[in-house]
Amino acid sequence: MYLFKRRADLKKHLDLVRKSHKSIGFVPTMGALHNGHLSLIQAAKKENDIAICSIFVNPTQFNDPKDFEKYPITIDEDIKKLNHISTDILFLPSVEEMYPEGLETAQTYDFGSLETILEGKFRPGHFQGVGRIVHKLLDIVEPNQLFMGQKDLQQCLIVRRLLSLIHSPVKLVVCPTEREPDGLAMSSRNTRLSPASRQKAVGIYQALLSIKNNFGKDLHFLENAHDAFDQLKKQGFEPEYVDILQLEDGQLKQLDQPPGNATVVAAIAAWLDGVRLIDNMIIQGNI
Ligand code: AMP
Repeated sequence: MYLFKRRADLKKHLDLVRKSHKSIGFVPTMGALHNGHLSLIQAAKKENDIAICSIFVNPTQFNDPKDFEKYPITIDEDIKKLNHISTDILFLPSVEEMYPEGLETAQTYDFGSLETILEGKFRPGHFQGVGRIVHKLLDIVEPNQLFMGQKDLQQCLIVRRLLSLIHSPVKLVVCPTEREPDGLAMSSRNTRLSPASRQKAVGIYQALLSIKNNFGKDLHFLENAHDAFDQLKKQGFEPEYVDILQLEDGQLKQLDQPPGNATVVAAIAAWLDGVRLIDNMIIQGNI
């Protein structure tokens, strides 16, 4: 595996790759890699001649400085895992390399109402930071395909919108959420849970499953979400939201009437043991 820390060196290498008519699959990550990340890299390799992964803990997408400071960093293990699955290239830039202009910016992206619900509502500025770093990375890597996880569904929709705003030809491939055997969505943040909290954490997945199973039955969907919220509280979570939404024209809208054939998604964010966990499940349709 090649490892690049400088954008100019990576660009030079990728220019040669493109000259030999090879396709490039790209997986941006923040490291502390788990099987969810690795499944994206494997998908990128399967569909392209080379797979490149970036590891960069992006400061501009953290609205909470403590969350940024506590973000797990496990570079040596990450490199071993990437080598093990024959990743072609790792891009590992510094903050200065990615933000030579400094972290402040006046530039904003118009993500519409996607930015004011769910993660957008509870993490102000988060998606502007995501848009900024993904835009920068795409300018450097110029991949054919970009692989992202459904685990961060709203982020996928933001990036889909970004690609359209910047008229990018890159194809976004959304890959399924990888889960632990008990159903907990794999996440770098899970490593910060105590053993007792780790056992409890599966409650989020169970709440999503119960919403899915009850959907369309006797319970109204709003009651369904309220019940799940209360259940999580009883189990010791501090839920931020339990929402059932409809996907329409690339935007997520609160469901306020029966959705017909529209794609419907349930999404949860909840704190447990000082760790913020998110997960979602498609109730009907596809994204
Ligand atoms: P992160 O390092 O958390 O920024 O995630 C990098 C990429 O991996 C994003 O596209 C995530 O959606 C994806 N990802 C994170 N967790 C999972 C998972 N459990 N299954 C599939 N993809 C995931």
